[in-house]
Amino acid sequence: MTAVCRDPGPRLTFRQVAASQYMSAPNGGARKNPGSWASSAIVRQVMQSNRSRDTRPELILRSSLHRQGLRFKVAARPIAAVPITADLVFAGVRVAVFFNGCFWHACPSHAQIPNLNSTYWGPKITATAARDASVDHVLRQAGWRVIRVWEHDRVDLAVALIARAVRNRHHVFEAKIRRSALEVDRSSPHR
Ligand SMILES: [Zn+2]
Repeated sequence: MTAVCRDPGPRLTFRQVAASQYMSAPNGGARKNPGSWASSAIVRQVMQSNRSRDTRPELILRSSLHRQGLRFKVAARPIAAVPITADLVFAGVRVAVFFNGCFWHACPSHAQIPNLNSTYWGPKITATAARDASVDHVLRQAGWRVIRVWEHDRVDLAVALIARAVRNRHHVFEAKIRRSALEVDRSSPHR
């Protein structure tokens, strides 16, 4: 029996969820914890995924957002002409979400790079962080709200943050459309 879940996801961090036995044990999850946030469909999706282990948190994020009734593009360009790919794109309200692993994206709390300049990974990680900053800048300049979800973030809180941002922007964009409609009215010859 699969229960219908309306909660925003587990009160665990993405890292905890990805590392849990629940996600890594084939066929084990659904039996151990029936009706939980991780439906058997998600487990199947994870098992079938050919991508690296690091994307498990992304699958959890996407599934949790879907359950909130949110729809979005995955691995898409927020701006067609600009070669930036966001993990999730809410095109109508211009919200772009990036999922950041703590190590690769140099999370200030968890990156734990032993010696930035003497290792192979150090410069790569530094470059990734610099690229992230410039991506954020470009998108914000173009009127996008950029949300970076960290591996150390709690799933339920990240989902709530994104849902709130999308809904708030929805109101703002609707108000803008109404305002421009009024402006058209005012500039009409009846005036
Ligand atoms: Zn972190």
